[in-house]
Amino acid sequence: MHAAAFTLFMNVAVAGLFAASYATIAFVYPGRNRGPIWFAACYGLGMVTPLAQFGLAYTAWIAFFGALIFLSLAFALLLLVPALAVFYGSRTPWPVVGAIAALTLLLPVIRSGLPYHPLTYQLMYQAPFTLAVAASAWVVLCNSPRQRSDLVLAGILVLLAAHFPVKAYLLVQMGTARSAKYIDTTYALVSQVSSGILLLALGLILLLKSVQEVVRESQIAAETDILSGLLNRRGFDDRSARVIARARANGWPVALLILDIDHFKVVNDTFGHSTGDAAIRAFAALLSRTMPQPALIARRGGEEFAVLLDRTGVEAARLQAEAVRLATLTHVEDGLPRLTVSIGVAGLAPAYLLREAMERADAALYEAKRTGRNKVCCAPENAARSIPLVAVAQPSET
Ligand code: GH3
Ligand code: MG
Ligand code: MG
Repeated sequence: MHAAAFTLFMNVAVAGLFAASYATIAFVYPGRNRGPIWFAACYGLGMVTPLAQFGLAYTAWIAFFGALIFLSLAFALLLLVPALAVFYGSRTPWPVVGAIAALTLLLPVIRSGLPYHPLTYQLMYQAPFTLAVAASAWVVLCNSPRQRSDLVLAGILVLLAAHFPVKAYLLVQMGTARSAKYIDTTYALVSQVSSGILLLALGLILLLKSVQEVVRESQIAAETDILSGLLNRRGFDDRSARVIARARANGWPVALLILDIDHFKVVNDTFGHSTGDAAIRAFAALLSRTMPQPALIARRGGEEFAVLLDRTGVEAARLQAEAVRLATLTHVEDGLPRLTVSIGVAGLAPAYLLREAMERADAALYEAKRTGRNKVCCAPENAARSIPLVAVAQPSET
């Protein structure tokens, strides 16, 4: 067996394994991100290229397999552009894709009409591959959050794009394969190994990104309340722990709000459970709109909500709570009953213990309910429960 043929065989197998892996991820975890199914299409089509090279080497259909090699590789690489755009949730640059596709189809025609010049000929052959991969790198750089793995992905794409013209130069240096049979040339071996390694690296990083995305999506699902789209209890507790630890270390004030819709049982009894659900969703949306952006907002169950306000003292938190209470009181929405809400507020400093603050905010909420509802009550600070902090500045506004 030719050494290049062995490498071709490996390339078919590796491309097939990647295509199967992406397809498995897409079907086993049918999340919102459809990127992996596009990656499967890229590598699935990419398998055709080394298979067609076998055809070229071992059959007499030279023109057919020659065209198939060129077109399958060019369109597999071009598919990466929409694939990455889908993966990163951005718009596919279809005019760019269309222009590269047109050039891919036109270049062989233009090339055949020109007098034969080895380097120009080879550069024109490799140009669609370079353009498609460069466009993919551009999609990653413009649309990814540019985490380390995104930069590695962009780097591999830039290397892959650059290696095609280098291959054109190498082919001319090693003697053109025009007369020799492609599979017999040293160039075929170098070309298959270099492209193989780069496409393997690309496949691995795309696999890593796909798995990362699955993990991220399931983490979000585990932390999200289905009815309201807000954080659930677990998400709130996890994220609060991080905010509180940072605030404690810096001596920032943090405030907690516990909110409970008034007489909600009457809403269910009068209008039915599904209207009750819609009212909970509408209140959640109002709460998200009214609270400042970095606030952690959760539905803790039933018609009870919690908000953690970072770098906010009790007085500022009370004003925020008043804003929510008034917004709820005046909110009118078609098909939904008018609501009122009672709110308990507690500062976390100086103890910075969520459970303890929760108990005090609950007690304040109970007080608001007991004294007439549609009210905001603040928990008195409980200095007796404070934990002395060594070398930590005390917040100024609690
Ligand atoms: P209060 O002013 O004292 O808070 O009165 P309330 O009726 O709101 O208090 P309570 O906590 O006793 O009742 C809450 C009701 O919320 C009871 C339950 O029927 C309803 N509820 C809990 N979870 C859901 C839900 O997911 N959807 C709907 N529609 N109703 C829910
Ligand atoms: Mg209630
Ligand atoms: Mg309740």
